[in-house]
Amino acid sequence: MKDYNKLLNDLKASGGLRHLPEVAHQSIYIEKGGQTMLNLSSNDYLGLAARLDLRNNFLDRLRESGLPLSSTSSRLLTGNYSIYTELEQDMADRFGREACLLFNSGYHANTGILPALADKRTLILADKLVHASIIDGILLSNAPFRRFRHNDYGQLEQLLGKEAADYEQVIIATESIFSMDGDVGDLRRLVSLKKQYPNVMLYVDEAHAIGVRGNNGLGIAEEQGCIKEIDLLVGTFGKAFASMGAYLLCSDTIRQYLINTMRPLIFSTALPPAQIAWTKYLFDLLPSFDKEREQLRTTSRLLREQLQGHGGEISDSHIVPYIIGENDACIAKAEELQRKGFYCLPVRPPTVPQGTSRIRFSLTAAVDAEAINNLSSLLNK
Ligand SMILES: *Cc1c(COP(=O)(O)O)cnc(C)c1O
Repeated sequence: MKDYNKLLNDLKASGGLRHLPEVAHQSIYIEKGGQTMLNLSSNDYLGLAARLDLRNNFLDRLRESGLPLSSTSSRLLTGNYSIYTELEQDMADRFGREACLLFNSGYHANTGILPALADKRTLILADKLVHASIIDGILLSNAPFRRFRHNDYGQLEQLLGKEAADYEQVIIATESIFSMDGDVGDLRRLVSLKKQYPNVMLYVDEAHAIGVRGNNGLGIAEEQGCIKEIDLLVGTFGKAFASMGAYLLCSDTIRQYLINTMRPLIFSTALPPAQIAWTKYLFDLLPSFDKEREQLRTTSRLLREQLQGHGGEISDSHIVPYIIGENDACIAKAEELQRKGFYCLPVRPPTVPQGTSRIRFSLTAAVDAEAINNLSSLLNK
């Protein structure tokens, strides 16, 4: 039998042991170990999860609607409440796409869509820095795959030129805003690349961008004007949307095919209708969160400017890395910042490359410029 205690001890000795931190939330603050800190590690990018006005208004409506707190079934059996199809229709309309399909989480989406669509005759070309859930989806699909260097479209172009003709189809998989560097993919370039081939589809995960970017908050695809040209446009509701779940915008055919073949959709209980109603409530309001998007844009630019040469130059979003290099120095700095009231976390290898240990700041619309200036005065530059 495996000695799991020993394995845990080995992890601890190497500094890689993970644990569940005991934290309490006070709107935009985190309380931990008796200390109150401004949360700079939040995915609540628009500050909506912390908004009691929205929550209370929604809860009043929910009580009237009578929607239950569980669907008690997969959508393919008895769990398909009309609220799912209403949200899917609204989203397809707003994005100007043929169809939308909802999932229980981004992890479900990314581990379900690729295995349903790809097989041994599909080649998957994925950016080196895609999220773990996309990697797992690729591995589950059993399709052959290659990783191209991060945002290196020249290398991607070479791979396509050399290999696309050997496969029935190719799927290019990437993200729009990348989670560790906060940089942004050139989706238009990817669209023009894939259009050179009749058998290439583009798969883009907008988990960090939906809600935050684009005039109506529809993501980088909206900002770059290519919503209609991304075959498989994925996003999640657990971050800026302050809810839970994920969506795919695609063709009617792909939607129907996934309903027939996608295992996490078929074999898992659908999200509670009340949760879908909350997502729908916020999706209806999404275009109105201009002030929040503008505030986030302003503070993100400020932090990036203050971290020029230390990671700020890499980012083009509200996720800003502060690269320190060595593990110990990085951990010590994060602890110092926490003592001084800023809840931020160190990110180390293997999550990021050796020698680039960093503090990853993730801003929300609830953080103001004064907080950024105070934070900045504590950073070694
Ligand atoms: C957070 C995240 C996911 C996972 O979404 P969940 O809804 O939390 O499961 C998937 N992809 C990316 C890029 C993410 O950042």
